[in-house]
Amino acid sequence: MGSPAGTLKVSRRPGGDPEIFYSLQGEGPSLGTPSVFLRLALCNLICTWCDTKYTWDWRNHDYRQEVVELSREDVMDAVQGHGCRRLVVTGGEPLVQQKALAPLVDSLKGRGFSFEVETNGTLAPLEPLVRSVDQWNVSPKLGSSGNSPRRRDVAPAMAAFAGLPTAFFKFVVVDRQDVDEVESLVCAYGIRRNRVLLMPEGTSKGELQGRSGWLSELCVERGFRFTTRLHILLWGDERGR
Ligand code: SF4
Repeated sequence: MGSPAGTLKVSRRPGGDPEIFYSLQGEGPSLGTPSVFLRLALCNLICTWCDTKYTWDWRNHDYRQEVVELSREDVMDAVQGHGCRRLVVTGGEPLVQQKALAPLVDSLKGRGFSFEVETNGTLAPLEPLVRSVDQWNVSPKLGSSGNSPRRRDVAPAMAAFAGLPTAFFKFVVVDRQDVDEVESLVCAYGIRRNRVLLMPEGTSKGELQGRSGWLSELCVERGFRFTTRLHILLWGDERGR
């Protein structure tokens, strides 16, 4: 799966077009903000409940069908075509491709763009991206994700994000035990509680509603922020929205 330097492996929509689309940010601190989304392929984790397995699970998905390799110029054209200057880079795990991503972000920054990057917090961000990214939506994975502790909790990466004023930490919560694990990570890395968001796991309205009641109460009790998954509530588990 090697590709020429400077190209980005971008996820494809079911019709084959690159997954670069305009919508509302559905999760986290900027929930509801109109944004362009760029979904990059590849991930270094294997979450059991991952709802974008088509970006990395090549045992069950066809790489050639799911991924398109695009030059920086092609990605820039597609992004700018939407007429919105807020770009959310998501995945997969975008930082797997951070060396190719940095020049794209840099070029768009010069054209007035602001950026959010979604990451699982296992790869420390390199300086060129740290300089340009306005908001990091770090989503560290808990035991309920099915990843081993060694894979999901990488201390140098977590410490790097914890030290960034631009980083927020969004945890996907399956059950109450997950919140105890969140407390341990918050304590271990000195993360400020007002930068922590808890989000119910779920890819249907019913699943989200089932976990939102007790989780929102826990947020009030413990001083964490709550976020839902707006795109699931609005459109269900529809790809590319
Ligand atoms: S880190 Fe994100 S993209 Fe990767 S497997 Fe987990 S949920 Fe899926």
